[in-house]
Amino acid sequence: MRIDCGLRDWIIEDWAFTPHASIGQAMRFSINLQRRDPEILNAAGVVRLPGMRIDEVRLFDVRLPLVRPFETSFGRIDAREFVLVAVDAGGATGWGECVADVDPFYSEETTTTAWYVMTNVLVPAILGRTLAHPRDAAATWARVRGHRMAKAAIEMAIWDVRARLDGRPLCELLGAAARPIPAGVSIGIQPSLAALVDRVGAELADGYRRIKIKIKPGWDRAPVEAIRAKFDRVPLMVDANAAYTVASAGALAPLDAFDLMMIEQPLDYDDLVDHARLQASLRTPICLDESITGPKAATDAIGLGACRIINIKPGRMGGFGPSIAVHDIARAHGMPVWHGGMLESGIGRAHNLHLSTLPGFTLPGDVAASRRYFVPDLIDPPIEVRKDGCIDVPPGPGIGVVPVEARLAAATQHSERFSA
Ligand SMILES: [Mg+2]
Repeated sequence: MRIDCGLRDWIIEDWAFTPHASIGQAMRFSINLQRRDPEILNAAGVVRLPGMRIDEVRLFDVRLPLVRPFETSFGRIDAREFVLVAVDAGGATGWGECVADVDPFYSEETTTTAWYVMTNVLVPAILGRTLAHPRDAAATWARVRGHRMAKAAIEMAIWDVRARLDGRPLCELLGAAARPIPAGVSIGIQPSLAALVDRVGAELADGYRRIKIKIKPGWDRAPVEAIRAKFDRVPLMVDANAAYTVASAGALAPLDAFDLMMIEQPLDYDDLVDHARLQASLRTPICLDESITGPKAATDAIGLGACRIINIKPGRMGGFGPSIAVHDIARAHGMPVWHGGMLESGIGRAHNLHLSTLPGFTLPGDVAASRRYFVPDLIDPPIEVRKDGCIDVPPGPGIGVVPVEARLAAATQHSERFSA
């Protein structure tokens, strides 16, 4: 059977499907079967899917103080400022969180550029439109280059509202099913080696299954050595956030002695070729984060041998559509992926947990408990880590959580509403 939704066809194999089946069922078939052999089409009928009209979009400029400052090779922050998105369709509301920072250090995008492109370009393009599927949001923005974090925040809110309208968890709409997600933590650069070792001990006591530390030139071998001296078997990785050059990357060679899971993004944020050369000289797998901006970059990176692991962040890729594509490409090559973090509030954190249910996410991600970052979080109950080091996907329709109204109001610096 074929589902004609105007922009693309999906193949479904469930021959019990009838026009009386719910939209939710039809959407589920579309997700599960879109990658199947097109020959099934030969025996097909056609069903037109009712779509969802985007009635209203609300944007919130939010500031949440961090429990403790977070330092990377980019610098140090003591609060997270971000754009929160609410999309209303069919009487339901979906939520999305834009992961752009205030400064253009992790990526070119900032909270200000995201606000600009959302209000002037992305929201007007989508308002009042009827979408057959959340993936179709990307098609309405096809002319807009870049601004992937801004696009992702709205696209992910649309996935959430679609799942809520269907009355099922987002992970099902994404093509998976809820499962416990192994949690890892990302530890920023600490004032001293002793402070770092103490932090690692505290995180392990809290149940986290994998430790990641931020490194930069001058803070690489010594912190790894200090952690290994005390915790010789803990799953450990390092993230350089592109702090090294070809000239300074020699400092990474000694890390091969410490049995690290991976070295994340050692070289330039948009580089693949130098990473391929570096990977050839290292035993430790390189994981790419900043460099993987979508399916094309993932294909190129794998073809060049630039990495052996990929960190997926939907904000960096433009949403769930391209993230699922990168997951599928990596999986087809037997390459593990894991879910990165961007200091999200509980809204973004819930999205990340749902995406992490896809089968290629075989390594613990940076999807930690709310209380490591925000007290209180925007959501209630907060995201918590179980004693076995896993996090449960929030149950219920959509992402399973919503912001607490009073907390969102208190954290909002400015907001705007756009109605069709
Ligand atoms: Mg990273």
